[in-house]
Amino acid sequence: MADQLEAILEQIKKYNKIIIHRHQRPDPDAIGSQIGLAEILKASFPYKQIYVVGKDIPGLDWIGQMDEIDGQTFDGALVIVTDTANAPRIDDRRFDNGDKLIKIDHHPNDEPYGDLMWVEPEASSCSEMIYSFYQHFAKELKMPKKAASALYAGIIGDTGRFLYPATTPRTMLVAGALMAAGADASAISQRENEISEPVARLSAYVYENLTINESGAAYIVLDNDTLTKFGLTEAGTSAVVSLPGRIQNVLAWAIFVEQEDGHFRIRLRSKGPVINELAKHHYGGGHPLASGAKAADHTEISQVIKELDTLVSEYQK
Ligand code: AMP
Repeated sequence: MADQLEAILEQIKKYNKIIIHRHQRPDPDAIGSQIGLAEILKASFPYKQIYVVGKDIPGLDWIGQMDEIDGQTFDGALVIVTDTANAPRIDDRRFDNGDKLIKIDHHPNDEPYGDLMWVEPEASSCSEMIYSFYQHFAKELKMPKKAASALYAGIIGDTGRFLYPATTPRTMLVAGALMAAGADASAISQRENEISEPVARLSAYVYENLTINESGAAYIVLDNDTLTKFGLTEAGTSAVVSLPGRIQNVLAWAIFVEQEDGHFRIRLRSKGPVINELAKHHYGGGHPLASGAKAADHTEISQVIKELDTLVSEYQK
């Protein structure tokens, strides 16, 4: 790992323009790792031009805002992508127009890309990795409060505020160090825990309408009509994804969210059975206990439910 970190810092020192990307439809870890790295670099190398790009996502702009840059800015730039397993999911397709590309990620490295990679699937979050990068060069790098806050937001996002098994002793140490660097843990947790009234009502709908199989597999389909009824788009469904996990007898679950073109985004979560292989069979992937995939129609939804049920039944044996 030390070699990879040295190689990354060497490139950062070499380039005066650095553009940081993350994945499409970002979550707090995507934005947190992106903004956290950018703020560390801005504070440590004030003479360099550091940009963050990708679509602004309402609801997460409190972590940090994106920059608008033209195509020419990519000429001779170093591009760093955080928290993104594969190139097709990188937000802002100009990521390939720079001089050099670096991947920093904590998903299984099934689809490598870039000239340089640092991938640690054991890390709770990409934000935790960015802290490790800072810590390795703590004599040279600075950790401003804005970076500490963004990284803390990313860590609690991916660990469900330290609830999921991805949380390690190291995660807790890093969280403490970020608090010491100025992150207001309580305020950030409150902010991430907040939901809008439509999301609160959708949460009630999810609990009311969730199907729970005897095996411990559970699922719900959220079609466009339902989302419209609640005044939400699919972006508003993120906050309900973790809800079924609170139910004692639910071991793994799938939430199927209809997209504008009629296909369904599948959000898979688990408290034990490994679900990322299932996700891979349906144009997806992700972590062993948190994955995403796609279903073309209701026939494929039925297939996924069957596969999930089998997988959870096998796990119970
Ligand atoms: P989500 O349900 O979208 O929050 O995704 C959970 C995890 O699965 C994240 O770590 C994503 O990076 C990953 N993931 C989601 N969708 C896909 C996909 N289509 N292909 C590969 N990985 C995905």
